[in-house]
Amino acid sequence: MSDCIFCKIANKEIPSKTVYEDDKIMAFHDLNPQAPIHVLVIPKTHFESYNDMNAEHAEVMGYLTLKLKEIANILGIADSGYRVVCNCGDDAGQEVKHLHYHLLGGRNLKWPPG
Ligand code: AMP
Ligand code: ZN
Repeated sequence: MSDCIFCKIANKEIPSKTVYEDDKIMAFHDLNPQAPIHVLVIPKTHFESYNDMNAEHAEVMGYLTLKLKEIANILGIADSGYRVVCNCGDDAGQEVKHLHYHLLGGRNLKWPPG
């Protein structure tokens, strides 16, 4: 998607503070962190949200999900704990229409989030 900001990050058209990258996924620090550690994890394949996920995305999403603990480990929060959030649609406040997980940690996170 030519006008998608996260596709541009994946294609290195705009810079990011990358934490982890391979041929399928990328993790980078959120520009506006909501916790001491706030990283976004994306599939390099473009699709908007859970509503647009289908069988062809199963492999990359399974792969990404299994990578989360490794990314948490790189960030030093695997043992202290972390939260994984995926906003889908307007009521969840999804701003960027390229599926992404927020990986949050580094402090005791409130629950419920409100
Ligand atoms: P969401 O509301 O779930 O769509 O979250 C989008 C997130 O992307 C927000 O937390 C933004 O701070 C973050 N964000 C937007 N642009 C960038 C960027 N260029 N680099 C890093 N994070 C970004
Ligand atoms: Zn995209």
